[in-house]
Amino acid sequence: MASRTGCVALGHGCYAWIAGAAGWGMSNAGLITGHGASLLVDTLYDLRLTRTMLDALAPPAVAAPISTVVNTHGNGDHWFGNQLVAHAEIIAARGSIADMRQVGPAEMRALTSMDSPAGRFARRIFGRFDYTGVEPVLPHTVFDAEMVLNVGGTEVRLIDVGPAHSAGDTIVHVPQAGIVYTGDIVFAGATPVVWHGPFHRWLAACDLLLGLDADIVVPGHGPVTTKQSVREIRDYLEFVHAQATARFTAGMPAMDAARDIRLGRFADLDESERLAVNVHTVYRELDPSLPPLDGPGLFGCMAEVCPRV
Ligand SMILES: [Zn+2]
Repeated sequence: MASRTGCVALGHGCYAWIAGAAGWGMSNAGLITGHGASLLVDTLYDLRLTRTMLDALAPPAVAAPISTVVNTHGNGDHWFGNQLVAHAEIIAARGSIADMRQVGPAEMRALTSMDSPAGRFARRIFGRFDYTGVEPVLPHTVFDAEMVLNVGGTEVRLIDVGPAHSAGDTIVHVPQAGIVYTGDIVFAGATPVVWHGPFHRWLAACDLLLGLDADIVVPGHGPVTTKQSVREIRDYLEFVHAQATARFTAGMPAMDAARDIRLGRFADLDESERLAVNVHTVYRELDPSLPPLDGPGLFGCMAEVCPRV
């Protein structure tokens, strides 16, 4: 199952849409079907990708039309396709909606047209997406902390484990199926990026996932996996937090720390340049007076440490 892409049947009426390629923005989605209704987990980064995903998930949705959509968080690769499912009730955590208001398709178009290292880096990693025609459709329903849904007789639990990766991070648990859709709390085979933090919230989210009755883990990015990927993410976050803290304490500037840290057993994870953002987030936790970086600032940091730019 680990290498399958496209529509993957997981059993108990649950499906995953697994992106056919790795890399920035190549996100997954999910479908949980019940009797006469189903719930879609996330839309994708542009309309073409979202249409392809919806077409692939259409057969199981014939008898169980999509009545509910959950956006796991507010990064565009998990909600820019919302306009194609706007007939359904779209649900997200409060923090996720705040993120969506801050960075929508207009901001991504602006970032990817900047004439700067950040802009060039953003074009290189996001050039495969087409934000043309993307209209921001924000969720209709907001929840705090936890929400339990009945999707055609199937119990679906939404738990906001953020702020961690972003300002609000929802995991979608289907207890009777032993399946959890994690959004970007789990990247399988790629480097987690701590846009928001704090780190301890993400570690707590990993512990919550490890304690769930769920043998099948559908990550936000990468193949269908198991709790092993949750443990790897947790280990990476602990390692980076300790490494960055030691350098902060020694008085080393954040960018120097990002260049100095040797990733060891985590060096093979894709998108290792995210370390620059992660170190910055640790430094801000340790010194809240440090100013936050905006989008171009964050992508500029990664462009600096990314050897391929
Ligand atoms: Zn994502």
